Amino acid sequence: MKKHNFNAGPSILPREVIEKTAQAVLDFENDGLSILEISHRAKNFQPIVDEAVALFKEILNIPEGYSVIFLGGGASLEFCMVPFNFLEKKAAYVNTGVWAKKAMKEAKGFGEVVEVASSANDNFTWVPKAGKDYQIPADADYLHITTNNTIFGTELFSDIDSPIPVIADMSSDIFSRPIDVSKYGMIYGGAQKNLAPAGVTFVIVKNDLLGKVSRYIPTMLDYRTHIDGGSMFNTPPVLQIYTALLSLRWLKAQGGVKEMEKRNIAKAELLYNAIDNSKMFVGTARKEDRSRMNVCFVMKEQYAHLADDFIKFATSKGMVGIKGHRLVGGFRASIYNALPIESVQALIDCMNEFEKANA
Ligand SMILES: *Cc1c(COP(=O)(O)O)cnc(C)c1O
Repeated sequence: MKKHNFNAGPSILPREVIEKTAQAVLDFENDGLSILEISHRAKNFQPIVDEAVALFKEILNIPEGYSVIFLGGGASLEFCMVPFNFLEKKAAYVNTGVWAKKAMKEAKGFGEVVEVASSANDNFTWVPKAGKDYQIPADADYLHITTNNTIFGTELFSDIDSPIPVIADMSSDIFSRPIDVSKYGMIYGGAQKNLAPAGVTFVIVKNDLLGKVSRYIPTMLDYRTHIDGGSMFNTPPVLQIYTALLSLRWLKAQGGVKEMEKRNIAKAELLYNAIDNSKMFVGTARKEDRSRMNVCFVMKEQYAHLADDFIKFATSKGMVGIKGHRLVGGFRASIYNALPIESVQALIDCMNEFEKANA
């Protein structure tokens, strides 16, 4: 049976990216060795890193003065590397959910942390906006935001004009739409949501913000180490970087982030419209902040007892990964770049069929 992969992460990758990765595992560039057994210093691997960096810069239109590096440790390690490298006295955090809270917790070990806004009282169903819901403190070292809240299905679609550097966790919406990188001091994320298998983290950082804190930074946690080493200070996740490159080539060939945005809007509208028009299902996030990557919905009160049955029914039709995070309950369909609109339609067909039989 055809599977429709709505996993939140690790998640769907383009089929051709997986096939080319499989080929490289067997024989990398017809060289007689697997990519799993070559040195990261091999002369046919340096061009992989170089092209991945170049495609990051090209696809996201990254201005001069920024570096792109690939690290290990996931987005979760960035939660501590960010304050290590940038927090001298005080940092501002917007609390939009689980990941934002985890980032904030780490920063507290390094200095004063101000929670400038939070949607916790509404179970993170919306995203506070700068200028409207909060003011950015001009005396903080940086403002930290999470652009897409993977668990609660909310997303911030506009780049912020800020007097201080904006540092954004874009783990789950990077490459899903155009962004103005010049408005950010740093952008980071685990690659396993929209780009590559788990095990590689991307960091886009403005060079002139580095080296300003007075504390000692351990070598491996200092962004400058990895910039100077071209992401090869130590052994990088070779296979993951290669798969990321294949994804980036795919992205470019498809028409880049503009085209991804168009497709993602179409997919999200299709699914949200079906939810809004349903007798049985209802969305959890505030409409204007609904994520185009993670669509969260639940059963209406009177059908709540049917939730498990729906998961079983959908699973029998090939749907994978639609159970909601335990903090939200219900269902979550992650509809990342590589997910075809046909899979969204298959899920809607499933919802309609279940509703007809049970409502
Ligand atoms: C998944 C996720 C993380 C955690 O990523 P790891 O790579 O597992 O550390 C952090 N932030 C967001 C927004 C995420 O979606």
